[in-house]
Amino acid sequence: MAAPIRVAIVGMGKIAHDQHLPSIAGNGDFELAATVSSRGEAVNDLPHFRTLGELLEAGVDVDAVALCTPPQVRYDLAAQAIAAGKHVFLEKPPGATLAEVALLDAQAAAAGVTLFASWHSRYAAGVEPARQWLRGRKITAASIVWREDVRVWHPGQDWIWEPGGLGVFDPGINALSIATHILPPFFLLEGRLSLPSNRAAPIAADLHFRTSDGAPVHMDLDWRQTGPQSWDITVETDGGTLKLEKGGAVLTTPEGTQATDDREYPGLYARFAELVHAGTRDVDTAPLRLVADAFLRGHRLTVEEFHD
Ligand code: NAP
Repeated sequence: MAAPIRVAIVGMGKIAHDQHLPSIAGNGDFELAATVSSRGEAVNDLPHFRTLGELLEAGVDVDAVALCTPPQVRYDLAAQAIAAGKHVFLEKPPGATLAEVALLDAQAAAAGVTLFASWHSRYAAGVEPARQWLRGRKITAASIVWREDVRVWHPGQDWIWEPGGLGVFDPGINALSIATHILPPFFLLEGRLSLPSNRAAPIAADLHFRTSDGAPVHMDLDWRQTGPQSWDITVETDGGTLKLEKGGAVLTTPEGTQATDDREYPGLYARFAELVHAGTRDVDTAPLRLVADAFLRGHRLTVEEFHD
């Protein structure tokens, strides 16, 4: 058996704690080697550093880094890690711009290291069965409803409201990562982005896309949802209706419903190990491209101020 991949986590925020630490601990292909945290956060007695540069200079034995920072600061970290010969796991979205992600991909190719642009929602239990079920069926329409309460899910995350933080597209891009995986290619026809007057990113969006086959795809994103939350995708086909609920965890087709426990991040780490061992990369920017197009082509409406 190959030696474990020694990985350092960079950015010890919510997702590092909720998902990366337990997924690394639960996967024998990985060993947590160090942490990088501007606040000096450590895990047990492992080496910890304030910056990635300090980690790299210290000569700690690390094969890979998992970048769990906000997207706006990820390019420099990834470029630094690639230049040092480390494999890189990028949290979603892979960057703040498409051009920087393309550059990283080229740098990783030249350096011969793995670059993984992760899309955790693609590993939700119902997504692969949904993709299989839709194969060979004619899709006539699709609808995405992603409505959640930003105060519950992103309290105090100032970066998410800044340019490059994506606003409501931070969760919305998860829906797009599923939709681009299970539907034929689609593109934006028109859209409406609602921006609070005191923020630089949208709190809601209403988007109309069309697939290459001419089927309409509607997307309704809203961060002002209190009460029950919705993370649902419905696809109408010539073989009946498919519904993915709870972010892809629950799949319903005319044959019945299947629901499985959360396995998104274990799936991501299994994929990262596969890529490292195969010496390849996985950098799909299709979800980010659609978000960029929404900013390019959508109408902007100003709505009331938002305060945490
Ligand atoms: P977060 O709680 O705000 O944590 C981000 C961490 O990155 C901070 O705690 C900080 O760690 C570090 N950091 C470095 N530069 C920073 C800067 N300029 N501003 C703020 N933090 C900075 O965010 P998160 O929810 O973990 O999200 C991080 C990434 O994971 C995002 O791209 C997000 O889309 C993605 N993600 C989040 C979730 C979720 O449920 N929250 C789910 C899936 C994916 P140190 O203080 O240790 O340096």
